[in-house]
Amino acid sequence: MEIITHPHPTLKHQSKPILRINAELKAIVAEMFELMYEAKGVGLAANQVNLPLRVFVANPSGSRGEGEEFVFINPVISKGTGNEVADEGCLSLPGVYGPVNRSKSIHVEAFSIDGQAISLDLEDFMARVVQHETDHLDGVMFTDRMVEHSLQAIQGEIEEFEIEYRSKLTDGLIPDEQAVHQALAEWEVKFCK
Ligand code: ZN
Repeated sequence: MEIITHPHPTLKHQSKPILRINAELKAIVAEMFELMYEAKGVGLAANQVNLPLRVFVANPSGSRGEGEEFVFINPVISKGTGNEVADEGCLSLPGVYGPVNRSKSIHVEAFSIDGQAISLDLEDFMARVVQHETDHLDGVMFTDRMVEHSLQAIQGEIEEFEIEYRSKLTDGLIPDEQAVHQALAEWEVKFCK
């Protein structure tokens, strides 16, 4: 398992709800936490590790053994109130930052890795993290939410990732789009059908 970067096609994939929580999913989640801490992130969505599953992990402290670890399975956000613009980054666009307007507070319903229902009112940083990660499950990057003039300021950095991706594709170092979608379909059979 590894973190994929823009413009990998799985980052544009709308993931389907998970229908079964089993030992394999628990192992996936444990590995996602590992990768998130290694990369010094505060959240990591399944799409970012090339899996089409509606689950993300988060720890607002970004450090193992500190803060609180969250696993959100099939998250549904509602009751967004207020607006706040703040800079965001993403492990799938490492080193790139830009301002994104998000709801200041939200309500989120989900399931934990033990299958328990989660119902939380969140605000500020944690509300932002949950909105950013839930977007990933819908195939939406933070850059998709940026206003045009802010996006233009980082366009060059984004293009560098696109050039690198295309060159790896040309050299046959990574699977093509058809192979990626085939692999995603197999994961969906396993967890979402
Ligand atoms: Zn992200």
